[in-house]
Parts: sequence; C-alpha cells; structure tokens
Amino acid sequence: MCTICGCASGGASIEGRALDARPASETTLMHARGQAPLAHGHAFDPTPARMIRIERDLLAHNAAHAADNRRWFAQRGIFALNLVSSPGSGKTTLLTRTIELLRGRLEVAVIEGDQHTSNDTQRIRATGAKAVQINTGKGCHLDAHMVGHALEQLAPARDTVVMIENVGNLVCPAAFDLGEAHKVVVLSVTEGEDKPLKYSDLFSAASLLLLNKIDLLPYLEFDVMRCIEAARRVNPAIGVLQVSAIRGEGMADWLAWIEAGSRTARASARAGAMPNTADSPTGFAAREA
Ligand code: MG
Repeated sequence: MCTICGCASGGASIEGRALDARPASETTLMHARGQAPLAHGHAFDPTPARMIRIERDLLAHNAAHAADNRRWFAQRGIFALNLVSSPGSGKTTLLTRTIELLRGRLEVAVIEGDQHTSNDTQRIRATGAKAVQINTGKGCHLDAHMVGHALEQLAPARDTVVMIENVGNLVCPAAFDLGEAHKVVVLSVTEGEDKPLKYSDLFSAASLLLLNKIDLLPYLEFDVMRCIEAARRVNPAIGVLQVSAIRGEGMADWLAWIEAGSRTARASARAGAMPNTADSPTGFAAREA
C-alpha cells in the first residue's frame, strides 16, 4: 500500500504475469541477499503508530531494492532515467522521438509503467526498441522491486540507456527511488506554470525539467519564465530544457544531456566506481539492518 495517498499497490504485473506469482528462479536480481520482497496488501490499520511503521518499512524496502538496481546499472555502464509527470505531458511521444533520434548513437531500452494498458509499450516496440510493461493495477507509481523484476525481463545491454516511464502522477513517484541516475520531470505548457510549487516534492527530487510542447506556446498564456522561476524556487539546482518532441525544438540539447550522462556511466563502470547510494532521494541509507 502506498501510505502517501492510501492507494493499494496489490495486483501489479509484468507483461501480464502477476508480480507476486513469479517463481523463485526469477528473483535472482532483487532477492540475492535473501531479503523478503516488498510486502503488498497490508490489512488497513489507520492508527498513527501503525501507519508510520508501514511507511518506514515500505520505504526502507524500496530503498534496498533501489540500491540493488543502482548497483546493477553501475556495473553495466547503464544510464537509467526515471521519467515522471502528470498524465498527458507527452512522455511516450518524447520517448519514441528520443529513441529514433539516438538511433545509431545510443541504444535505449524502456520500462513502461501504466495502471492497466500496454498501449505505450506497443508504441515503444514499434520503434524497434526493447520494452517491458509493468501494470500497477490500483497502484499509482512504480517501485524499485517492480523495476528490478522488469529489468530481468528487459535484459538491457551493457553501455545502453534505460528509460523508465513512471505512472502519470506528480505526487507518489517523488518518494520512490527506482535506482535511476536521475528523475526527469516532464511538464507540458498546457499545464499550469505553478505546478512546481504545487508539487514541490517531485520537482525537488528531479535533476532535470523538460518543458514539453513548446510549439503550442503561441496559442496559450503559459509564462515560461514564471514556470522556470517556480521550479528553481523549489530546486535551485534543477536543469531546464525547453523542447517540442513533435516539432524537434530543443531535442538536440536533450540528446546531448543523455549522451553526456551515458558517457559518465560507461566511464564509471570501466573504472569500477560504485554509486553513492546514500544519496538516494528517499533519504535512506542503502540498506537498513
Ligand atoms: Mg505514456
């Protein structure tokens, strides 16, 4: 259960197969240390002490799985991004255009998060890229345990880029580290320019803001500078790129940002450097006793 919004996260599946029904032979990545899987479907007991304990345990489990994912990416020189946004910001179109533009330069594999459909996965596969679908059922975000299992199925090659399209939601994905190098928040100019202030946790956790659909600016009253100012007020270090996935404006800067991150990930893997998991956005150390 997501203690942030109270949603139930039971019923999650990967490629149509129930996550909790997967055989032990497929749990090598996430349970190598004998750790129990993330507990799904707690009986609801709303006492404050119980809720605090559930949230602490749930986030600690997630942080441990995220640390495993991060280590797995680091050993393989894989640059992993967690794309977060509200529904309809244009994440999937951005992904398909990114994959097409990077063709011949960098290989991209995708994990798609969606409550019920595999529509976006089909769009990714139509580009020729590998993609795996996670359906979260009633859950409103991906967690690191789901992503670890999806990675086993996706089997991305070394030195590639893994893009994780999170469930459209500006609240809960902020608290769930997936082991990514960066959260990238996508905000379209058809939304409110004050969203960084309204959903400050997510914008605080992100490294980069992609302001998407800028080709529509002539038809809207969206104040770009006011939006950027709001984002920088909650996160002074956030990078900002203005893009139109459809028309192509700004995409060269976005591709250059990805390529620079991938170069660093590959160089670190060759040097045997490990990520600092204490820096995880959930604020937990890599693994609690
Ligand atoms: Mg999508």
